[in-house]
Amino acid sequence: MTRCRLRRSLLLALPIVAGAIGAHAALFRKAPETRPNQVAELAPGVYFRHGDLEGHGHCNNGIVLFKDFVLVIDANFPSGADACIADIKKLTDKPIRFVFDTHHHGDHAYGNPTWAKHGVIPVAHEGVAREMARYEPKRWLEAAESRDDVKKLGLDSAMPPVLTYPDRMVIDDGTQRVELLHFGTAHTRGDGFAYLPKQKVLFTGDAVVNGPYNYMGDGQTESWVRVIERLEELDVDIVAPGHGPAGDRSVLARQKDYIQALQRAVREGIAQGRSAAELRDSVKVPEALQSYVGGMFRDQVTKVYSEATGLELPLELEELGLVPGDSPTRASAGWTAPRKVVISGPAEWRKDLAHVAPGVELAFAANRRELLAAIADAEGLIGPLDAELFGAAKKLRWVHSVSAGVNQYVGIEGAEAGVAGLAASSVVLTNGRRCYGPDIGDQVFGYVLAFSRWLKASVEGKHDIAAGKVSPAAGAGGAGNFWRAIDPGSAKAEWELRGKSMLIVGLGGIGSEVARRAKAFGMTVAGVDPDVASPPAGVGRLRRPAEILDLLPEADVVVIACPWTRATHRFFGERHFAAMKPKSILVNVARGAIVDPKSLVDALKGGKLLGAGLDVTDPEPLPDDDPLWSLPNVIITPHNAGQSDGVTRRRLLLARENLRRFAAGEPLLNVVDKQKGY
Ligand SMILES: [Zn+2]
Repeated sequence: MTRCRLRRSLLLALPIVAGAIGAHAALFRKAPETRPNQVAELAPGVYFRHGDLEGHGHCNNGIVLFKDFVLVIDANFPSGADACIADIKKLTDKPIRFVFDTHHHGDHAYGNPTWAKHGVIPVAHEGVAREMARYEPKRWLEAAESRDDVKKLGLDSAMPPVLTYPDRMVIDDGTQRVELLHFGTAHTRGDGFAYLPKQKVLFTGDAVVNGPYNYMGDGQTESWVRVIERLEELDVDIVAPGHGPAGDRSVLARQKDYIQALQRAVREGIAQGRSAAELRDSVKVPEALQSYVGGMFRDQVTKVYSEATGLELPLELEELGLVPGDSPTRASAGWTAPRKVVISGPAEWRKDLAHVAPGVELAFAANRRELLAAIADAEGLIGPLDAELFGAAKKLRWVHSVSAGVNQYVGIEGAEAGVAGLAASSVVLTNGRRCYGPDIGDQVFGYVLAFSRWLKASVEGKHDIAAGKVSPAAGAGGAGNFWRAIDPGSAKAEWELRGKSMLIVGLGGIGSEVARRAKAFGMTVAGVDPDVASPPAGVGRLRRPAEILDLLPEADVVVIACPWTRATHRFFGERHFAAMKPKSILVNVARGAIVDPKSLVDALKGGKLLGAGLDVTDPEPLPDDDPLWSLPNVIITPHNAGQSDGVTRRRLLLARENLRRFAAGEPLLNVVDKQKGY
């Protein structure tokens, strides 16, 4: 919950009752009943402080007594921090060392400066700092207007956590163990959880609440459900939510059920053609979940509606790091709202795109003739553009290419004509870059493992056995036997990826996904890229393309993942193969024409390469008599690395988001620099 206004009426603070007093050696299996401003012991040394939400906007707090110090869960508002500190003093005289912010909302994190004044270190998942950068100081200044405790601090903005963790941080002194966890976006993009495995207690922040406290505006509900499912995998008896009373595991289940019931009801309404406004008044959730329905219900319906229809940026695209580019917006001089966009994508996209461009005619062309007719007065095109269509289009302002490569549009001197006049025109070209990273990243390791683990040879050996050419019983080393390919102890033998090095040429959407996977395999990764300013995750050394010859001799695997442009056309040639490490692996998932075909064949024939994995060739498809077909150490795939269930979904999500932006006059994502060619 956030943005809860302070109710000015002063409620009398209820007396503090230390619950479950007594010499309990055993762990408690049930959460004690509590009321606002009460502290209750959940397990030995583990306390739940029920926040006073109605009276002061306070969240719940957790208090964990370690041997020599105290850890607090949630900073609360400054006044909540003061109240919590007073209660801790009644429990112990140990120093308070850490305060863990479960997420960035005022009622959970604005008390950080108060704790810091007492020498306490604010800790959080790293997303909390990013959320603060995103929303502050705006919200802080608003809070200071209405809340004396925030105003009294006299600060200009919220205090970010001092200590952050990416996925997990453990605080364990032998007596207590608290695992600070993160499972993805839920209530916010930075939700953290404090899990006490010994006591089976889980503090959830607002990702799980117990009552009508679900503010959804800063989260994403589909991902939220997945996060709760991860929480359900933990061995938990007691759940201490961000707001509302503590309870058992069923608190997790009810929170999930509520979100899913809301999603179901909204999706059904959309399928019936209801508008967001109609749904706000008509959506119902089952009787058993009514305790979750409160003042925020209509906003929750709108939120889920926006997610389901694409009116808000899907988390999946946000996480790909797509950025808005230079394109006309409603603030640009002479901008007018577009009236027609032609879509040469699949017809089933119609219902998916239906809600994002109100007032814009979406023309789905079933054939070439319809396409040529429809494009004449359209301002936008989603799908391939060619010279004839470009000539027929009289009002075109935007073309969205679902593919990442755009050489067929902008052209490459001496190699590809492109669409004449497009590069010099004012038409904005957007592409599908970064949508293909995950699946192409997977395929790169398909080739690498096929060679390093001899999978290719084994598959081929099996075919030879099936064809009766060889016998598996012929014994190792025998002529023509199944095991011939594997030569243990030699330079040709299997090798493991751990400790090996990879060089990635091009650190865009594909290269950065390859790097993440390489890191997970224990490889060291270097990359060359003309533009990238700081190395993406997993990349150790980042160099400019001119330095590639210095890096090649060290690489066991070289992956080509750059766009095909004038600058990269045939650039990887004889000198590069000569510089490569003997028995290394080359993978090309970019475009065939980036690699000089003759040098590639020579390197493979000469035994320089252990193998080459080629998803792309020059030309495509290769003619039947191309020497690559007959070389044993080559895997050729039919340009399929960029195809997967995930790509199909992301292609749609990106086209939909850019259509929404185009209609609304917002800057488009993935704008191509038509001069550079990517
Ligand atoms: Zn919150």
